[in-house]
Amino acid sequence: MSRLVIVANRVPNPKERGATAGGLAVALQDAVTQREAMWFGWSGQTAESTAERPTEVVQGRLTYATLDLGRQDYTRYYQGFANGVLWPTLHYRLGLARFQREDYVGYRGVNAAFAAALAPLLRPDDLVWTHDFHLFPFGRELRRLGCTQRQGFFLHVPFPPYGLFLALPRAEELLADLAAYDVIGVQTEDDAINLRHALEAVGQGEAAARVAAFPVGIDADAFRRLAERALTRAETRRFHQSLVGRALVMGVDRLDYTKGLPQRFAGYAQLLARFTAHRGRATYLQVTPVSRGDVAQYRSLRRELDEWAGRINGQYAEPDWVPLRYMTRPVQRPVLAGFMRLARVGLVTPLRDGMNLVAKEYVAAQDPADPGVLVLSRFAGASPAMPGSVLVNPLDPDEIAESLDAALSMPREERVARWQANHDAVWGASARAWSRSFLSALEG
Ligand code: ADP
Repeated sequence: MSRLVIVANRVPNPKERGATAGGLAVALQDAVTQREAMWFGWSGQTAESTAERPTEVVQGRLTYATLDLGRQDYTRYYQGFANGVLWPTLHYRLGLARFQREDYVGYRGVNAAFAAALAPLLRPDDLVWTHDFHLFPFGRELRRLGCTQRQGFFLHVPFPPYGLFLALPRAEELLADLAAYDVIGVQTEDDAINLRHALEAVGQGEAAARVAAFPVGIDADAFRRLAERALTRAETRRFHQSLVGRALVMGVDRLDYTKGLPQRFAGYAQLLARFTAHRGRATYLQVTPVSRGDVAQYRSLRRELDEWAGRINGQYAEPDWVPLRYMTRPVQRPVLAGFMRLARVGLVTPLRDGMNLVAKEYVAAQDPADPGVLVLSRFAGASPAMPGSVLVNPLDPDEIAESLDAALSMPREERVARWQANHDAVWGASARAWSRSFLSALEG
């Protein structure tokens, strides 16, 4: 079997395993245990200038090869172009993108530098699998250096309609970058249609034929076990007692403007205003660790949410009932899994999301005999495959309130039937199936 080289903006820390590892590391766990493998990318550290040679850590058949980023490259490549332009644009929010030529030049420069650092480490029959929007140009840079290995690319975030993407300065060049890959994977059929149209519109019709959808999944059994075991933990018991029998509504998201959090808080406020029977009977826990706190838009979103939380609790709280418990600290994954199991409603309402793994984790965490209800945005990549969810338009707080009322009032038989309708999407489309189907397409 040929070696697998995984290229990603962030490489997991070799010391972090299982429960503490990031999403991509969890999804690729199976792939890197099946064969010899290398993880290549940014170390997460900055330095005076971007390193030319990677630092390698070998763990059995797995090698971690990482580079520190120069401070200016961090600002331009990572904060500026990747997070400041591509992230909003790919999530359909062109108005939030702040294009600056020097950021784009920095982005291309880091991709070229990364390719130059990896090329000497490659063997002729390696499979190279590059991940996400930070690295559109990476494959073409490798080709420029004469590397002829099979190369695949997977986009973890959505791809917007082509007219929107083509409004981005340098969109044509970015699409030509994608054409260098042998397999171009996206999360959903809608993303595949949008990306094919964009490629065709710029004369890259041949590359359009190499686009396919590979929906990413979770290890559902492992998450279910985590949730079950969490019930005996002291944190879970304390939390359960603190609910004093009230129905729990739960949200778990990074603090990001794609997650629809102000509209979600507005929806919960509408629930309390219009469906008064839930006052004093429901408690909403929103766990939202701060991310990208150095970006202005994320800071203003945080202020907005602080205001919402204060307003909701100020208006509706009773001396012995707080309607909204809002946390911006991270919570450990096993604790989170236990809280999800206790929740009568999983509230997942991103404005756009590549997939949304929290939706799948919530379903995996439920007790099949008495499951909770998933209230899910129509615009999460997970929604087409999860027909048992209560689907909402995340921009409409009234619809969120009506869906919450329906979910909180739902009889057990309907909850069981809906949970079963979501079962296949969660257990069938596993992380392992995702990486295996992508790699078999890449091996041709
Ligand atoms: P995104 O990749 O945009 O953050 P996803 O829902 O696809 O969104 O993946 C998020 C992952 O991070 C999930 O596995 C989720 O459990 C985890 N996560 C999200 N919020 C927290 C949190 N507060 N604490 C711990 N893990 C979290």
